[in-house]
Amino acid sequence: MNGPLEGKTALVTGGSRGVGKGIAQRLVRDGALVVIGYREDDRTALDAVAECDAEHGDGRMHAVRADLTRVAEVAHLFDRAEALVGGLDILVNNAAVMRRGTLADSSEELFDDVLAVNLKGTFFALQQAVHRLREGGRVINVSSTATALAHPSQAAYSASKAAVEQLTRVAAKEFSRRGITVNSVAPGAVETERVSATVAPEVLRQWGRSNAFGRLARPQDIADVVGFLAGPDSRWVTGQNLRASGGAL
Ligand code: NDP
Repeated sequence: MNGPLEGKTALVTGGSRGVGKGIAQRLVRDGALVVIGYREDDRTALDAVAECDAEHGDGRMHAVRADLTRVAEVAHLFDRAEALVGGLDILVNNAAVMRRGTLADSSEELFDDVLAVNLKGTFFALQQAVHRLREGGRVINVSSTATALAHPSQAAYSASKAAVEQLTRVAAKEFSRRGITVNSVAPGAVETERVSATVAPEVLRQWGRSNAFGRLARPQDIADVVGFLAGPDSRWVTGQNLRASGGAL
């Protein structure tokens, strides 16, 4: 393999399916050795690795199970990832949970779950990465256009992602001391297995019509933006939020 990330290594949280899987595949195609993190679905994670092995040969992708809501498991994820691929250059904080709820009907359990994965998990992964990523590395946090839409049914989710965007700006300063860039990517609606299984087809069509191209994004559309931010050409971009929404608000 001879791509811009030849000799580089990456950790993609939530890389077993959906957008994260697309990102992991793109980074492998660019030449990186990639570790995908996931919470519980061993089968799907192992299938993603097997798919990569079949396409690119063994050993370019590895999977590590770790619950990002537990700080000790975040440290374990980094320990295992570094051992598997020999240190880390790139971190993609992609894992998240999207649970619907208005301010009025969100339970404490929903709030804690959404914030624990999306914000706490990202925060403590950044804390690990600030000492561990090699100089000149890259961090990409996955946000959402929900931060600008103010959709009533996404109260906790959109707040968690707004916090991730702010954390990105703060982290960009802290990581810059070692020449590492930190950016976020905010996708609009993406057609993943989870989205197709939980959202009515008519609503999906409506979401598709809300952007300039009249279709839902595919994981690859987001992965290619992350690929740019993970690569050498993005060296002068840091602390930014890049909206990848096909022109939708
Ligand atoms: P999915 O729900 O398809 O996948 C989520 C991934 O995160 C899985 O690998 C899951 O592992 C992992 N995960 C969930 N909780 C934890 C946890 N506590 N610890 C470790 N891993 C965990 O997500 P999507 O592909 O839909 O979304 C990916 C990113 O893109 C998210 O940040 C999301 O907010 C963002 N996004 C998605 C949009 C969309 O329309 N799909 C739109 C805008 C933003 P397991 O399967 O084992 O539980």
